[in-house]
Amino acid sequence: LLEPGDLLDAQTACLTGRRLRHVQEIHRAEVGQTLRLGLINGLMGEGTLEEQSPDRLLFSLRLDQPPPPRLPLTLLLALPRPKMLKRILQTVATMGVQRLVLMNSYRVEKSFWDSPFLQPAAIREELLLGLEQGRDTVLPEVLLEKRFKPFAEDRLPALADGSRRLVAHPVAETACPVGLNAPVTLAIGPEGGFIPYEVDLLVRQGFEPVHLGPRILRVETAVTALLGRLFV
Ligand code: SAM
Repeated sequence: LLEPGDLLDAQTACLTGRRLRHVQEIHRAEVGQTLRLGLINGLMGEGTLEEQSPDRLLFSLRLDQPPPPRLPLTLLLALPRPKMLKRILQTVATMGVQRLVLMNSYRVEKSFWDSPFLQPAAIREELLLGLEQGRDTVLPEVLLEKRFKPFAEDRLPALADGSRRLVAHPVAETACPVGLNAPVTLAIGPEGGFIPYEVDLLVRQGFEPVHLGPRILRVETAVTALLGRLFV
């Protein structure tokens, strides 16, 4: 994926740093070879490697294809442990999630909020890896909400406006719908689960508790399973 600063003009890009190493080591590209490229938050297409040196690669570009459509999904995720967070960030970008809210919850370990992986640059790096995997260019919006109650009461109603609201809860009586394919706001709890107070507050905000069957899934597995089930 190209940063706007990589463009020398609309038809030429110069790659350095991590992306240069990626092209050289993963793709083993040679002059004359064509690769799929895209501009972050912009069009996708192809680039032909025109010049190669140890510290820069020059591509001629033909970027004329729109990125794939987003999933109309706002995912509210209780902040997971840093290692899991990295994988989930990649997954949500690969799957085209529109917005991710990393929120606090009673059972989120407080030290997770101090993780260097929550720095905007670190989040962006994982999202870019996910986008490259999914052949997409559009970065999901990521919001951090460090206090559950003010978020759920004050800001969530506007964020969830016009969407179906679901909270993934293993003891729910209703099964998660299949193939909803409509705007959804989906809440997923921490490793220890939501406490009843949090589920009640979400229910008061119009969220329906839904389950995914009798197995308790790890958070990252629940994310993938829920997305695969809601959007087919
Ligand atoms: N003991 C916790 C509980 O009972 O809620 C398990 C939490 S689970 C490891 C983490 C989160 O993944 C849950 O809060 C829920 O949002 C989601 N989840 C995992 N398995 C699920 C299932 N079978 N049905 C619905 N949600 C599930």
